[in-house]
Amino acid sequence: MAEYIVKESALKDFFKSLTEGRKLLAPVEVDGKLQMAEADPENISINYTNTHMSPKSAFFPQTERLMAFHNDAEKSDPFVYKPLGLDNVDQTVLFGIRPCDARGLVVDNLVFQNNRFTDPYWKTKYESSIKIGLACHNPCPQCFCTSVGGSPFGEEGLDVLAVVKDGGLALKSVTAEGEEFLKGLKGTESGDTSATMDELKKAAEAKMPAAIDQTQVEAREIMDIYNQPHWQETADRCLNCGVCTFVCPTCHCFDIQDETSAKGGVRMRNWDTCMSWLYSMHGTGHNPRPTKTERVRQRFMHKLKYIPMKQNGNCGCIGCGRCVTMCPVNIDIREVARQMNQ
Ligand code: SF4
Ligand code: SF4
Repeated sequence: MAEYIVKESALKDFFKSLTEGRKLLAPVEVDGKLQMAEADPENISINYTNTHMSPKSAFFPQTERLMAFHNDAEKSDPFVYKPLGLDNVDQTVLFGIRPCDARGLVVDNLVFQNNRFTDPYWKTKYESSIKIGLACHNPCPQCFCTSVGGSPFGEEGLDVLAVVKDGGLALKSVTAEGEEFLKGLKGTESGDTSATMDELKKAAEAKMPAAIDQTQVEAREIMDIYNQPHWQETADRCLNCGVCTFVCPTCHCFDIQDETSAKGGVRMRNWDTCMSWLYSMHGTGHNPRPTKTERVRQRFMHKLKYIPMKQNGNCGCIGCGRCVTMCPVNIDIREVARQMNQ
């Protein structure tokens, strides 16, 4: 493990150094909202709550071209189809991922890369990136990472963990790739950061609001929770707008569409949402989730019951609080978890 200090006066040099040979993504303001986006190293903040959207879009964009196809004998480069976006993938460094969001990437990674299936579009981008987390000192009132197995100083899913200290940064490598990456970066000095991090971690965890208890959700039979009457009440309020799924770091549903012209086209992958009626519609016309009640139940059961069952108790929600903040009718996953727990 390598440990370094970046003094406040050296931050710009450090950020510039991150861009050498790599594209830098960091929290920057885009259209009035803080987003993980391509960043100018001169203009990076280390004091923020969290990005509006999660960093999952760096590896799983909202819309993505998967392949082109055509049937045009007059083209100089005749092909039937060819994959797009898999060659010459940018080497990137993501700076400032909050530890909850890094755990979200781990949940998504289990979907896109597992022992049965590998998504090359996710894999090439994921494996071409260095992920630098920035610990949370001041969790927002909607956050609850500690009650779903995380920590504001968590390291899971990261190559390097950074902590704000005296206006600068304390850095600690988490993986071998992170350790290698930190070597020779400008603006860094060797320094022992463990004691600092432990102390700040305890203080941050103590500030985390108490949120959800899932002990009963884990222990109870699926059908016992599935048949509870509260699903109807939640569904009555829900607009099925899908905002909660789009902002969620661990939601990964997508739809594939072909955009065609007379002689060819492009195959696109776009984010989709299980809150949409059309999402679960079968080609036969049968829809296994025909009403809002089934769709609302699916979303919360998936996060809080089905994923933990399949992933050794690891929750499908990492407690970022985005859906709590953004739901237009104030449906709160912490309250739904309490209902499921009773
Ligand atoms: S954001 Fe709220 S209203 Fe919209 S689909 Fe999600 S729970 Fe329903
Ligand atoms: S379900 Fe809500 S709180 Fe949990 S990870 Fe998704 S957006 Fe964050």
